[in-house]
Amino acid sequence: MSQIRVGQGVDLHRLIEGKPLKIAGVLVDSPIGSDGHSDGDAVLHAVIDALLGATGLGDIGDHFPPGDPRFKDIDSLILLEKTLAMVRENGWAPINIDVTVLLETPKLSPYKQPMREVLSNALGMDLSCISLKAKTAEGLGAIGSREAYGATVIVLVEQTRPQA
Ligand code: MG
Repeated sequence: MSQIRVGQGVDLHRLIEGKPLKIAGVLVDSPIGSDGHSDGDAVLHAVIDALLGATGLGDIGDHFPPGDPRFKDIDSLILLEKTLAMVRENGWAPINIDVTVLLETPKLSPYKQPMREVLSNALGMDLSCISLKAKTAEGLGAIGSREAYGATVIVLVEQTRPQA
């Protein structure tokens, strides 16, 4: 019987002026954007950590160290692609994914469908298996004061071949 495993990922990025805000691979119209060594996409980073967590392959920092010039300003979709290849090589495939974005403003309603589509394409999963929810922090803490935004992700994976 094939095994299933669950993994979680969490990420937080500082929001600053003069940077684009890219969330789940989609450019969001905002006067402040994500600071980070890569493009600062907290959703994609949390997806990567969830996949690595479910499959016991470490964490994002193990594979894509912050400060490494190879990953400076890199599109995080490339990092996700590399991660998914690793996951598949190790005999696993994602079944479904549930994303929560924590962002005070702007409202993400118009972006949620395009974000699900990017994740669906990147992960090779049916749109019905990709959930993306958005929450504010009700004005509380670093997220509420727009100093930061974040994401949490849970993913379920199934074994595609017996482990060696
Ligand atoms: Mg990150």
